[in-house]
Amino acid sequence: MGNNNKEIPTSKLKIIPLGGLEQIGMNITAFEYEDSIIVVDCGLAFPQDDMLGIDLVIPDVSYIEENYDKLKGFVITHGHEDHIGAIAYILARVGAPVYATRLTMGLIEHKLSEYDKEHSAQGVNLSETIRRKVVTFGQSINLGAFRVEFIRTNHSIVDAAALAIYSPVGCVVHTGDFKVDYTPVYGDSIDLQRFAEIGKKGVLALMCDSTNAERPGFTPSEKTLAPIFDNLFEQNKNSRIFVATFASNVDRVRQIINTAYKFGRKVAVEGRSMVNIIDTAQRLERIEIPENTLVTLDEMKEIPADKQVIITTGSQGESMAALSRMADGTHRKITIGAGDTVIFSSHPIPGNEKPVTKIINQLLQKGVRVAYQDVHVSGHACQEEIKLIYSLVQPKFSVPVHGEYKHLMAQAAIAQDLGFSKDRIKILSSGDILELGPDTAEITGKVSVGDILVDGSGVGDVGNVVLRDRQRLAADGIIIVCMSITSEGQLIAGPDIVSRGFVYIKESEDLLSQASEVALMTVEKCIDSGADWNVIKTSVKDSIGDFVWKNLKRKPMILPIIEEV
Ligand SMILES: [Zn+2]
Repeated sequence: MGNNNKEIPTSKLKIIPLGGLEQIGMNITAFEYEDSIIVVDCGLAFPQDDMLGIDLVIPDVSYIEENYDKLKGFVITHGHEDHIGAIAYILARVGAPVYATRLTMGLIEHKLSEYDKEHSAQGVNLSETIRRKVVTFGQSINLGAFRVEFIRTNHSIVDAAALAIYSPVGCVVHTGDFKVDYTPVYGDSIDLQRFAEIGKKGVLALMCDSTNAERPGFTPSEKTLAPIFDNLFEQNKNSRIFVATFASNVDRVRQIINTAYKFGRKVAVEGRSMVNIIDTAQRLERIEIPENTLVTLDEMKEIPADKQVIITTGSQGESMAALSRMADGTHRKITIGAGDTVIFSSHPIPGNEKPVTKIINQLLQKGVRVAYQDVHVSGHACQEEIKLIYSLVQPKFSVPVHGEYKHLMAQAAIAQDLGFSKDRIKILSSGDILELGPDTAEITGKVSVGDILVDGSGVGDVGNVVLRDRQRLAADGIIIVCMSITSEGQLIAGPDIVSRGFVYIKESEDLLSQASEVALMTVEKCIDSGADWNVIKTSVKDSIGDFVWKNLKRKPMILPIIEEV
């Protein structure tokens, strides 16, 4: 693409985020030009506290389904759950080729085979049917009207890529999640030179990671943690050492293994997701582990405590993760106690502070030494790194992505500092259609987007009504009122009251027998007046509801059941 003699595009380029704005997670963005659509990333979000029983949240891709004939492929920036977590679910609906770097593809392939196993009864075989191509840095792929180039970046997982997306309207640079790390623990530093070259040729829009846009300065290099780990290992020479971090933080695991090796300790990895990621990284030669350093938990039993390091999941206080099972004494293989040291190598994600504190308290009560300060660096760019990327790329338009609204606004403020007028900064919401011409950018409409809730093997079968019921059951329990009525309308048994999660029955026999009386009076009154069963049910609900509210100020779910005999 030369600067002169540019062909005049006949249409606009559309950028449509289908998730990932207003929230952390669920990153997925469609790029559309005439009859070509490509999709960048395919992430999931973890459920909010009030989404009871929900395992994960995936994006609604009905827009892609409606335009399936245009879909050329999925292009993935890196292997974190908020970028690849929904890919199997989405590919099962809208199959298309997938393009990613090596480790990212390895993790995607694991997801596809897991999905295939769970859905083998339905004859699903994504591993066979989905075409996949491993892309190397600097390589470009052609997808309809688009050409996509992968650029090396740094993050907390190796093989993270930024994308230069060339279209007839112009080039859009999408950073993915990134930081600038001049001394990464594995692989090379971010390809700043390539950002500059692309910038020189002219960039229409920059879509840049906003996660740390509120933080001044630079994010420290992963390597700055090495002396901190050295110190902690030195101070806890006689302890068995546990380190809790994110399963997906491959670089951190590498760092911990370095220190362990230096101190002559063996390392075991615990937690299913972490074992999978480290296995995949090792198989694809994306992590170097000194020989005889990594052992299994069973092999660890033969090794003296002061020669052990156990890297574990659960740094966010997740109740099902390995660390929390160790802390509450329910782990199958590991008993933790006095003489052990636990290092938290992560910061709690906002919202997770309480469960993390709970685990720290549990560990301290068991006599465990706990270290949780300054043992983490972020994988995302701070303000000065964001400014650097803007300065290299020199985009016409700024489109902040990845983050909650306040993070997007923080990046908008940075762009303004750099001289961008407000009309050159576009803050999008999920579903917005941003239409770009060679010199224009405007939001022209909206497509339907939303959260699809996954509970067990059910996808989308739990909606708002079910969630509200679950919230109510969780908060105040349930009262079931059973009775038998003949077809002539004669009450012959009940009403009997059964409750769960409402009151401790032994202590409250009086209250429940009073409630039965209230129910009986209501039912008899209804039968006398010839009311039908629906009226009986509603009246029982109302009278028991009033009675409970008056006595306990609670609102349990009330479920009347009438059996016809
Ligand atoms: Zn990430």
